[in-house]
Amino acid sequence: MNLTCHECGFTAGYLDFAYLCQNGCPACGESDLRQCPACGARCVFSRAESLEDEQERMKELSMQLAAISRTDDPVMRKEAKRLIATLNAMNMRWNSESLNAFLLKKQEELFF
Ligand SMILES: [Zn+2]
Ligand SMILES: [Zn+2]
Repeated sequence: MNLTCHECGFTAGYLDFAYLCQNGCPACGESDLRQCPACGARCVFSRAESLEDEQERMKELSMQLAAISRTDDPVMRKEAKRLIATLNAMNMRWNSESLNAFLLKKQEELFF
């Protein structure tokens, strides 16, 4: 799903717009405050528009990461790093402790 910046009209996937608030922020209520990657403007989107997709996406990425076990294959290692970085970024918003623990565990399992 794409979002469009109200200031400059830049359009990109919702993951390209950085979160400015955590999920459940009382000030934002039912809206979703994000920063435009092109012009830096703070944009308010409807929460319902983006959050459902995002939770689904997090589940998908977690499952992909769970399926990777320790390997010397550089392609898989790179993919695991990418998944961990993406999930970490998404979790800045959701602040899920179980996801955090899962990511730390996988990081240890795969890279240490
Ligand atoms: Zn913009
Ligand atoms: Zn807020």
